[in-house]
Formats: sequence, structure tokens, C-alpha cells
Amino acid sequence: MGDIDTGTSSGTDFIREAVAADLAQGKCVEVHTRFPPEPNGWLHIGHAKAISIDFGVAESFHGKCNLRFDDTNPEKEDESYVQAIKRDLKWLGYDWEGREYFASDYYERLYDLACGLIRKGLAYVDDLDEDQIKEYRGTNVPDKSNITFTPPGKNSPYRDRSVGENLDLFARMRAGEFADGSKTLRAKIDMASPNLHMRDPVMYRIRREPHYRTGDKWCIYPMYDFQHPLSDAIEGVTHSLCSLEYEIHRPLYEWFIKNCEVFPSRQIEFARLNLSHTILSKRSLIQLVREKKVSGWDDPRMPTIAGLRRRGYTPEAIRDFVTRIGIAKTDSLVDIQLLEHCVREDLNRKADRYMAVLRPLKLIIDNWPEGKTEMLSAVNNPENPEGGSREIPFGRELFIEKDDFREMPPPKYYRLFPGNQVRLRYGYIITCTGFDKDPVSGEISAVHCTYDPQTRGGDAPDNRKVKGTIHWVSKDTAVEFKARLYDYLFEAERPTDVPSGQTFLDNLSDHSLEEIDCAFAEPAVKSVLVGQTIQFERLGYFCKDLDSQESGKAVFNRTETLRDTWAKIEKKNQQQ
Ligand code: ATP
Ligand code: MG
Repeated sequence: MGDIDTGTSSGTDFIREAVAADLAQGKCVEVHTRFPPEPNGWLHIGHAKAISIDFGVAESFHGKCNLRFDDTNPEKEDESYVQAIKRDLKWLGYDWEGREYFASDYYERLYDLACGLIRKGLAYVDDLDEDQIKEYRGTNVPDKSNITFTPPGKNSPYRDRSVGENLDLFARMRAGEFADGSKTLRAKIDMASPNLHMRDPVMYRIRREPHYRTGDKWCIYPMYDFQHPLSDAIEGVTHSLCSLEYEIHRPLYEWFIKNCEVFPSRQIEFARLNLSHTILSKRSLIQLVREKKVSGWDDPRMPTIAGLRRRGYTPEAIRDFVTRIGIAKTDSLVDIQLLEHCVREDLNRKADRYMAVLRPLKLIIDNWPEGKTEMLSAVNNPENPEGGSREIPFGRELFIEKDDFREMPPPKYYRLFPGNQVRLRYGYIITCTGFDKDPVSGEISAVHCTYDPQTRGGDAPDNRKVKGTIHWVSKDTAVEFKARLYDYLFEAERPTDVPSGQTFLDNLSDHSLEEIDCAFAEPAVKSVLVGQTIQFERLGYFCKDLDSQESGKAVFNRTETLRDTWAKIEKKNQQQ
């Protein structure tokens, strides 16, 4: 899979080294970071990486980490996102008590800082519109030998307005005297800079859009590049850790800090998380939600924290994953099988085992007395000695998986076929004696067998071994439930790699969800709680969904199957 991260991480990393050096050189006395989500979508697994770095670095140095909502885009933000972000962050196990901030609380301070730049002759009000600003700024172009270069941009004719005029116009922008988009406030830096972000970037725009926190109070809103460094500085953030795409913005970050003469926050970048078969861009995720390609932000196929939770992932598995991938300086693609491996490892330790049958086929034990029920004992979790055991009813008619019987067995098939013996998990050894076929459809409607009373649950005197063990549930006491089996939303490893004219939506798989309406489980599953993840033996981990009804049918989402491809890859690598 090419440049895939192998998921090895050492105790330290380049960020912690840089922070330690700053401390050693007295550049800061304590470490203060922040996690700065924009409340315009739900948190995803990429954010979990950023969170783990922001909170983790602070913790490593006994420092603090703020939660700051970067909310300066009124069109896209709203309170429901704030609530969703806080809920997911808490669920992941992070604590920001007393350190919850909003960039929108700084509007007044930011306005003053902008006025300060105007007074220094470092900002001006421009009358060019958006398109003109773009055109004057210029762009990267390839030269004859296809090497990109950046010809200088052109100064705006309004660039040399006097300080007095700029202060007056900026105040009137705030007062609502001008139409949306008719004026901007720009930093006066260098229209010839090879870094386009330094070519007089826009600091404020006029936008009459009510903000979810400040309402109609403001009709001018600060841009990210101006707001972010100054919000960091206002909070005394020593290390502003962000993903690599902000690297090119760093000179601007430093320019605002220096020229506003504020606390010297330092920006350090790390590689974003990219995950195979997954999209981690809020803009694309919101599209999946809006266009109803998924059932919502918390659809269990979504890479959101809420989606993973609903699917049965644990905070421990997610935190383990983001620790294992480590912190790198270059972008790469992480194999999603590593994430799946982390949840399997965690659930293997924690999840209680139950038996269920997804595609039922009737099994009749012809030599078992009619009406007789026997209770068999089963351990709840072989990985957890304190997990106890439970009783499972056993009777004459059972359900087994359709797939566990073959009329004509292929080679190396050790499950049930006429004449063969298998053990029923926790129960007896049976011998297949025949089967019934529906005369019309030709489908097998029931399998017949006899049991050997001497072979009960492994405690039989001769404790005979057979090659196959299959799971089952007793028909009379079975609990019917609905199962949702998930597969990748995108079959392609890199969903955004599409031919021109197509979008990532063209890559959506048409079999990412299979619903089974009528599966059966042993009666003990009745005590499983909504949100709890269990293991159905041989089938995988399943999480009881909130769509389960009190009285009616339970719904179980398959978290993952039991087959751990990653563990196999790892083992192979170790052997080499
Ligand atoms: P998107 O690109 O999906 O819109 P974003 O970066 O704009 O994401 P924010 O809410 O601004 O979303 O992100 C908050 C923090 O999370 C930022 O510091 C950002 O760098 C970080 N972050 C976002 N996506 C990832 C990712 N895939 N891997 C690591 N960090 C990420
Ligand atoms: Mg962002």
C-alpha cells in the first residue's frame, strides 16, 4: 500500500522535543496548548489525533490545554455543533474544566488590535471586491520548463489611504454603513512576497449574518489568519499545534503576533491523519449528511467520533490508535486496519460473549426428548476471569448459521454435512443424519442430527474431540433482533482519487450496509444495554443501538468481525 504508516511510535517526538527546548531556553515557563475546533461539523478521527497531541503535549509537561471554539464564520457555525463537539471530547476522556473559550468572545479585543495595526500604518481599508483582490494578488504559474514561480502582485489603489481615513472607514464598516463585500480591512505586508498568504491578506470582511453567539452585534467578522494567532496570544497559548496545511500560514501567524505586540505564541505543525477508505474533511462529511448518503453525523459508517461510538468503538481503542500512529512531519496514509485492530484488542478484553445466529437454519436433534430443556453453562469472557458465567437453554430444536451446513462439503470443510460430527459450542457432539428440502424452492429447510449424551460441554468422560465447533441458539427461547452489518463507505483506498469530472461521491460503495431483520440470539442478550458492545461468538463485536425499542426488537450494529488482518500483517513483519 505504498507510503503507509506502520503505526510505531516512540516515547518522544519532534513536537515534545521543540517544547522541551523552549522550556530549557526559558522561552516559556509553563506549557499551554489549545484544541481549536470550528463548530461547523462533528469531530472525526483526524480531530482525535489533534486532540491527543494538544492535550497530550500539555499533559507531558504538566501544562494546560484549552478548548477554544474558533467561531468566526457565522454562516456555517451553530450551537448544536458546539454541543456535539463537547459531548464527543468528554466521551473520549478529556477534561477542559474552567478552560472553555470562544474566539467570538474576543471580537472586541480583536477589533482593537486591528485598529492598532491601522495606527501603525500596517492595515488599510480596501474597496476592491473579492474577485479583484484575487486578481491583484496574483497566483503561482508554471514557467516554460514547468517550474512554478510567482510573479509579483499589484498594489490596490486604496493601499495608501491615511491612518485617519482608515480608522474612520473601519469604524464605519463596523457601524454597518457599507454593503456586504464592498470593503475589507487588509494587512499591509508585501504584494511581491513569494508566499501568497503574505500579499496583504484580508483581516476583516463585512457580512450581515447573525452569529449563533453574538447575534446581530457584529456585521464585520475577522478572518482565520488574523483571528487565530491573536486568540492564541490572548489565552497565553505557548504552543499552537496544528496540521501541516497551516505551515504556509506560519509567517503570517508570526507577523500578526509581532506587529500586534502580543504574547509570543508559537505555531508548530504536524501531519494530518489520512485514513485509507475514509474521508476526513468536514466539508465532504457534511455533504454525506446533507445528501442523505448516510443516516447522520453519527451513522456507524462515518469516521466521526459519534459514528465510531455508535458502531461500538471505545474511547480506549481510539486513543490507543492515535498514540500508535505517532506524530510525523510528513503526510501519509494510515491503514484503517490498524484502527480495527485497536478496537478488536480492546473489545477482546472487555466484551462479554454471547451466541447469536444471523442467517438461521433449523437444526432438529431427533434423539432429544420433545419438550425437554437443559441449561448449559458458558463463560462470559475467557479473557476476564472475574467475568463469571451464565446459563444457556438447550433443546430439541435449535438455529444454526446457514453457512455452517453444506449438503456437499467443499474440501477442508469441518462443519456440518451429512455423516459428519461437530460440537455445538458449550453443548454436545452431534452427528448429521440428514436434511429436509423445500419441494418448491429446493432450499434446505431443516437439518437433522442425533446427539451423544456422553459429550456434554467438554466435561464429558471421554472429552472427545471433533474438528468443528459451531454456535447455535435454542429455537424456543431465542430472542429476535435486527443486525446491521457494515462495510467501508468507500471501496477505494483513497476515496478522493477519482477521474476528472467525478467526485468522491462517485466512489461510494453500494454495499456498505447490510441489514438482517430477523436474527436470533440467546435470551441473556436481553440484559445488554444500549451502547454496550458484546461479542457474538464467531461473528464479531456488536453494539446495541439506540434504535432498539424497550419492548420490541433490539438492533445490533456490527463493530467489526473477529478476523484481524492487521495482526496477521504485524506477525508476518516480525518474522521477516
Ligand atoms: P476540515 O479540513 O475537515 O474542515 P479543519 O481542520 O478545518 O478540518 P477544525 O475544526 O478547524 O477542522 O480542526 C480543529 C483542529 O483539528 C485543527 O487544529 C486541525 O489542524 C485539526 N485537524 C483537523 N483534521 C485533522 C486531521 N485529519 N488530522 C489531524 N488533525 C486534524
Ligand atoms: Mg480549520
